[in-house]
Amino acid sequence: MRKPVIAGNWKMYKTPQESLAFLEAFLPLVADHTRDEIFLFPSITSLSSALQAVAGTNVHAGAQTMHWLNEGAFTGETSPTMLTAIGCGHVLLGHSEQRLYFGETYERVNLKFKAAVAHGITPVVCIGEQLSEREAGRTEETLRLQVNTLLRNVTRAEAKHLILAYEPIWAIGTGRTATPDVAQQAHQIVRDELAACCGAELAGTTRILYGGSVKPDNISTLMAEPDIDGALVGGASLDPHSFARLVKYA
Ligand code: PGA
Repeated sequence: MRKPVIAGNWKMYKTPQESLAFLEAFLPLVADHTRDEIFLFPSITSLSSALQAVAGTNVHAGAQTMHWLNEGAFTGETSPTMLTAIGCGHVLLGHSEQRLYFGETYERVNLKFKAAVAHGITPVVCIGEQLSEREAGRTEETLRLQVNTLLRNVTRAEAKHLILAYEPIWAIGTGRTATPDVAQQAHQIVRDELAACCGAELAGTTRILYGGSVKPDNISTLMAEPDIDGALVGGASLDPHSFARLVKYA
């Protein structure tokens, strides 16, 4: 019922040439893969050429963030209409690195989410607690507040387009994956909060990806959990062979 999504987040890696070299190797490796949806989030300078390279394939390319307005004096920003103009239909929002280093907030992510949906762009929205919040026993409260703020004044029709990624910050780039059990518990809380905000039906159909040190050798145990519907992958998405193995987890 919930088609899994395996997404690669390239962060601030790969020039356009390197992105195209990746795709040249990667696309044939996954060409026959239909079980999961495959997304890649290259940097903004690689996005246009990546979109052209994946056109007509089973892989989608998207932006790593965007503004919620269509234009204005906002140096450094990219607007939803700029993305749709180059054929971009996917965007990552609220990644923890944006939250930690660039002051991203869920109030802004809420505006970006609504703008993405209004422009027909599928948003993958990241949530997740810091180590200090987990150690203080505040994981549940943190996740519920994040989901709640994200979905403030969001209609059910808008919420239908949401894909969530639960990424515990202590597991990102650290090699310290959440155990399938710990991840499942968090996903269950997130789904429960979705039900409280938007109803049980929507909570049942929304895909919730897990992210944080996902590798080809730990993806299958994570995917075996009932509430984990895919993965958002950083480091292990940078190599075409490693990412193809990950996509094709047993
Ligand atoms: P990682 O990154 O797989 O390198 O831990 C995940 C992410 O930040 O999305």
